[in-house]
Amino acid sequence: MTTTYGGWAGYILRVNLTTKVITKETTETYHDYIGGMGIGYKVLWDDHVDGIKATDEENQLVISAGPLSGSGAICSARTTITSRNPVIRNHLITDGHFGGHFSPELKFAGYDAIIIEGKSETPVWLKIVDDTVTLEPADSLWGVGIFDTFANISKLMGQQAQVAAIGPSGEHLVAQSTIQTQGGHSAGGHGAVLGSKKLKAIGIIGTGTVDIAESTTNEQLRALDDHILGIIGANNNGVVPNQPQSWAEYSSTGSRWRGGPGVTWGAADNPVDVGETPWDDRQKVGMRTSMAEMYFGRDEANKIFKRPGGCHSCPIRCFCEVKNPKMKTEYNLPTENITNVCLGFLDPWYAMGKPSSGEKRTDIQTVGAYYMDDNGIWSAYGQLSHLMREFTSRGFWEIILPAEEFAAINWAQYADLDAHFMQDFYTRIAYSEDYPGSNILGRCLGRGLHEFINENGELYNVEDILNEVDTPRMAELTFELESDADYDLVGKTYSVFLDKNMKVFNRSMVGGVHHASESAGQVGALLNTVFNRDPQCHSHINLINCGLPHAKIAEVAASLWGEGAFDPVKHYTAMNTSKAKFAKWCLVKNVLHDSLTLCNWMFPLVVSPDANRDYIGDSSIEAQMFSLVTGIETSEAELDAMAESVLQLHRALTVLQMNEIDQRNKHDVLSEWVYDLDHDMSFGDEGTIKMDRDDIQIGLDMFYAEMGWDKETGVPTRATLEKFKLGYVADKLESLALLPA
Ligand code: SF4
Repeated sequence: MTTTYGGWAGYILRVNLTTKVITKETTETYHDYIGGMGIGYKVLWDDHVDGIKATDEENQLVISAGPLSGSGAICSARTTITSRNPVIRNHLITDGHFGGHFSPELKFAGYDAIIIEGKSETPVWLKIVDDTVTLEPADSLWGVGIFDTFANISKLMGQQAQVAAIGPSGEHLVAQSTIQTQGGHSAGGHGAVLGSKKLKAIGIIGTGTVDIAESTTNEQLRALDDHILGIIGANNNGVVPNQPQSWAEYSSTGSRWRGGPGVTWGAADNPVDVGETPWDDRQKVGMRTSMAEMYFGRDEANKIFKRPGGCHSCPIRCFCEVKNPKMKTEYNLPTENITNVCLGFLDPWYAMGKPSSGEKRTDIQTVGAYYMDDNGIWSAYGQLSHLMREFTSRGFWEIILPAEEFAAINWAQYADLDAHFMQDFYTRIAYSEDYPGSNILGRCLGRGLHEFINENGELYNVEDILNEVDTPRMAELTFELESDADYDLVGKTYSVFLDKNMKVFNRSMVGGVHHASESAGQVGALLNTVFNRDPQCHSHINLINCGLPHAKIAEVAASLWGEGAFDPVKHYTAMNTSKAKFAKWCLVKNVLHDSLTLCNWMFPLVVSPDANRDYIGDSSIEAQMFSLVTGIETSEAELDAMAESVLQLHRALTVLQMNEIDQRNKHDVLSEWVYDLDHDMSFGDEGTIKMDRDDIQIGLDMFYAEMGWDKETGVPTRATLEKFKLGYVADKLESLALLPA
């Protein structure tokens, strides 16, 4: 039975790769979980299997759209991918995302989600043309890079097909692998899951539309679009330009409103001088972000930036399409164009030690991004590159690697910042055991750091781990650190939890920093602690980095969460309940966006560039969109409550997958460096991001209280779960002695 609501397409595909049986089920069962991430968590809860790894046959992977995708709602084309993740300890459930046009096409074909389960014996790809869904042989695609996979499937299906695929990295079950869609938009950590199932790609053509509720008029939709375009900023909702402009009261170098005088799209067929980008000039909304400058520096960006790109229904265009002719002439690549966002361009640069701007850096970034994307490698928010850079600078590889392998790596290229290094570097990671000769370096980088450390973050002997020795030896890397005053390691065994440069924030998951205490004090720390992986959350950053003066941000924060909710970056005060409310709000909104699916790089819009509104935005936009598209009149509080239900399910699923009730001490634990860095400074001093151990415990108390979680264990109580219609979750946890008394 199809739904009578607008928004949802009405059906979910379930594809069993073992039996090759493809079935359809109604989406209506999942409406309480909104869509996207909510569908993913619900499926994995219902079908939970104890103690499995991400790459086991029993693991499922859910690719999902939300009720807003394809509706035309602004910034609504993200796709959410939910599965166990091999990059984090215990292979806990995480969600990854990509932008582009995939989720709208899925909706146009008539589906809200695809549940992938089982395991094929031979490589296949999934072909969806509206109601016709088939598994096609993919033997000829296996081993092919992602760009050629896109091209081959587009040849078979036609240019209008939207394709998502894995590269050689996913095929080789490398944990740090992506699933990507066209244009280099990638979702991290789940490529190996598809690789284990031998599913190379999914191609979709949808010729339908997404229905909007009959009760909604075109005038209402236009009025909402008009309202959003009046209060939206640039990427991360930067609402003031990053340099002074004649129309602007404020500017801030931290804002991602980069488009302005002096910025040129120099590689466009007809170069464009961006000039001033006044907030009320709607023809220039798509020029505000112009992110290339942030990745390459002004001079290089002005030479190579071709144009911004982006997702279906997005006016912001945060993707960078750049053209570096040297990719062809000097690096022998089949293209001179590469599109990417954020870590795609930054990770190769981080891996090479962050050289300053200039052509060498540009080459590293563009050539590196090509090889990362074509192989389908994920950076784990920089963890891969941090490991490469730090182990290289400390001389660890010389100790860890067999002499022959160490000698075979072209370290002279690395030292000379020669982008040719990128080819061998990323090939080693992607091809893992199939790379010729010893490949300890590539296998180590690709496996995920958690595999190589003990409970204390100390390194095992890498070869022992790769050879699956029952009692692996410790690497005992101490002597290199005896004269290292920068780290709190002198005389101790090396531990990644002590090393601030490795940026491992959560020690139980071994997850990387992502807008944690370096961006938002305890608010960021709590987000990065209680959510699996890094939370991929920008709700807080969209306020903190909006560019408005600190006093204005503090005023907005106080109005939403109470006095003291906001501290300027690197000048933190003690924990308080306002910060706990802020942290909870961030995660609820993040989960909401990944369920709707809406871009969390833009929403929520609590501030705006409109001085006439005193720079105030509107946090109810999501509820207004949801109500108009679905026809279910829903207030902001009601929609947030639905998202909170999904967030509670995330926590319960984490408890279940870890089979661990003591989340406080076994999951919500920060690395030591977060407390111990900057020896000459105390927590609260201006200029440090260090946290305080007692203060973070107080923060957990306050956050748990806001979430309705048990103070001792950090697990949702029965009362909380029942409040969110999750009584069946409480029953299961109780039956396993995983529910607090
Ligand atoms: S801001 Fe970027 S990621 Fe977000 S919807 Fe727009 S183009 Fe996509």
